[in-house]
Amino acid sequence: MQLESVGILVNLHPFGERDSVARVFTYDYGVMCGIMRASQIARKNRPLVAQIGTVSWNARLDSQLGTFHWESGRNASTALMGIPDALGLMNSAFALVAKLLPEREQYKHLYTETLQLMENLIGPTRIDAYLHWESELLRELGYGLNLGVCGSCGTHDNLAYISPRTGRAICEQCGAPYAPRLYKLPLTLDTTRRFIEQICMTMGTDLPIARKLIKN
Ligand SMILES: [Zn+2]
Repeated sequence: MQLESVGILVNLHPFGERDSVARVFTYDYGVMCGIMRASQIARKNRPLVAQIGTVSWNARLDSQLGTFHWESGRNASTALMGIPDALGLMNSAFALVAKLLPEREQYKHLYTETLQLMENLIGPTRIDAYLHWESELLRELGYGLNLGVCGSCGTHDNLAYISPRTGRAICEQCGAPYAPRLYKLPLTLDTTRRFIEQICMTMGTDLPIARKLIKN
C-alpha cells in the first residue's frame, strides 16, 4: 500500500541509532505516522520538524507503521527564527496536532489553517492568530465555540461568559447566578486551554508540554 500527499512534519522521535518515527500532518490523509530511515545520520536533506514537503508512505499491510519517503520543500520555522514566542506557538500547534488528531483522518480545513498560522506567526498579531487556530482545532474536534449569541436567551448583547459545558456564549444577565462556574469573555488562550484540557482528559492524556509553556 502506498499513499502520497503534501504535508508538514510535526513530530520526529529517534528510533534506534539511525532512524526516526515521524508524524506528518498531510493534506489528504490527516496525521500519518511512520519511520524515516537514516534520518538521524542524513548529511543532506535531513528531515526536521516544521518542514513542509511531499510525502510518500509505504507499508506492506495497511495496519503497519510504514515507511516515509520525505522530500522537504521549505522549512516554516526559518521565518520565525529569532522570535521565541512565535516558535513556542508553532511548537504548541504541532504538539496538539500530533497528540489530538486521530491518525489517517482527513482534516483539510485545519491543514490549511495550520499553514496560514505559520505565516501569521511572523507578524505582531501572532497571539490572535494562534487563538483563532485553537478555536478551529476545537471546532474540528467537535468542541466548536459559539460566541455570537447567548445560549440561554438568544440575545446578541452583553455577552459576558462562555459555558464550559456547551462552549456557547452566555449573556451577563443569564450568567450572573452561575458566574463562578463559567469562563469569561472575551476568549483568551487561558479559556481555549481549558477546553483542550477537557479533550485531553477524555483521551486519558496530558496537555502537551509545549502548550503548557504558552503564556496567555
Ligand atoms: Zn442570556
